[in-house]
Amino acid sequence: MLIAHIFLGLFCAQNLSEYVQVYKGNMPLVLSAPHDGYEKPKSMVDRKEGVKVRDSGARTIALQLADQIELRCGRRPYVVTTTLHRIKCDMNREIGEAAQGDKDAEAVWQVYHDALAAASEDAQQYGDGQILFLDIHGHGHPNDWIEVGHAAPLDGSEWISGETSVGAYLTAQGFKAVPSPAIPDPGDEKYFNGGYITRHYRSDAVRTIQFELSGPMRKKDKRHDTARRLADALSEFIPTHFVMPKFELEINEVTKQNEYESFYKIFNRAVDVFGLTVFADKKAAEAKLIHQAWVMYQYLDNDQNGFVDNYKVVEFLQNEKAYMLMTSKRFNPERHEKDGWHIAQDCFADETHPDGLPFNEDADEFDATLEEVWHLISNGYVAVYPTAFGLEPDSSQLTAAMDVARGGQFERIPRHYPEGAWYSYDDRTCEYQCMAMEYFYWGLTTLLDAQSHPLRAEQIKDEWRLTTPEQLRTGDKLLSELLEDEQFKLPTRLPQPISEPEVLQ
Ligand SMILES: [Zn+2]
Repeated sequence: MLIAHIFLGLFCAQNLSEYVQVYKGNMPLVLSAPHDGYEKPKSMVDRKEGVKVRDSGARTIALQLADQIELRCGRRPYVVTTTLHRIKCDMNREIGEAAQGDKDAEAVWQVYHDALAAASEDAQQYGDGQILFLDIHGHGHPNDWIEVGHAAPLDGSEWISGETSVGAYLTAQGFKAVPSPAIPDPGDEKYFNGGYITRHYRSDAVRTIQFELSGPMRKKDKRHDTARRLADALSEFIPTHFVMPKFELEINEVTKQNEYESFYKIFNRAVDVFGLTVFADKKAAEAKLIHQAWVMYQYLDNDQNGFVDNYKVVEFLQNEKAYMLMTSKRFNPERHEKDGWHIAQDCFADETHPDGLPFNEDADEFDATLEEVWHLISNGYVAVYPTAFGLEPDSSQLTAAMDVARGGQFERIPRHYPEGAWYSYDDRTCEYQCMAMEYFYWGLTTLLDAQSHPLRAEQIKDEWRLTTPEQLRTGDKLLSELLEDEQFKLPTRLPQPISEPEVLQ
């Protein structure tokens, strides 16, 4: 019951609990920011001993970090912060030194720590029971680095400064971090190895780490960037060492009152996938809506570790409010532009075949979901990597490869494609950029082995003739090497139809 009370903020008289902010999460991560409070109630006496200065910006960064993590995995960390100034109470000390005898300060300390204990306990239900707990601070030392406090000797072990240590992932995001593979120990420099909170909450189930951020990282105009890069580092670190809960699809109603308001007349259901949306009208079968969303999930988190594989691409699509739509009615995406829904891609119910090719060898119709959902996502690749995936002639590696695949640079469809061309789409409504989008799709899905079934190869032979991964790798090196370049984190496994009903909420 304690947990419920803490998350509802119900216990604690005198409103002292208002100095502590508790945000319930739904993932195996707890964030704490104890030293960035600003409130100095006269009713509490000032502390006489110890450090009394704020870790300015640490609380803002913790809150922004929670938001940034949610954008990358669709789940929120637990967050506990205080707005009570450290001169009144130091949450990162045992209670005697923390409150120095003031009864109210002691009460707030207790609220903060009850909340941390409850959050640590509650978070263990998400994943396999092991959680990460980050206590976020700021140091005033001269080095512009993150002091990573493990509350353990800096012995060079994997967890402390190996290639999968948190210091390694911070370094990859452009931070200096100690310890890390680059800087395994601080030498004679000042360094915090973890305070009371880091030591107190450590257990077999709870891996605590203290982050001490430098002054420059906490400057007002740098906080957002710091939070983003911390989130990027944690998106790699967390799934390497912890188990994220399975992705859950939730079918939401489209109403006049919610965020889907402008779609109300045509659509009745929406599924959110990492901030992108799949809409369906009331005629579309639920299984088809779920299939589209599930394919989208697998394209975006292809290794299914809980975090999107390429957040730069997803961030672009989130900002443009990219969406899929399944309707047989006439639909005008321009109507929705004013509400920020900028990128639309349709995929009709009658071309959505969860039991079609390539999933079912005995089927004769191909599932267009694999194509249409990829088209939506590729808008992100085009925008984020224009020299790799730009659609204009002579703009990118993609179009350079396509000009070879078509046997020449054709801005208009040629009367006959040259002999030896293996990509020869002849739909005149599809101009050069559209051709490049289709080529991207053919290349990717061929590498994922979606096109090699003999019946399928026969169906598409007028348009695309390298239908197995091996044919593509030997026959179209420019494209296959582009798509297998690991920097782009493109999918390497073909999405599959949903098979586990438990992923549905
Ligand atoms: Zn601190």
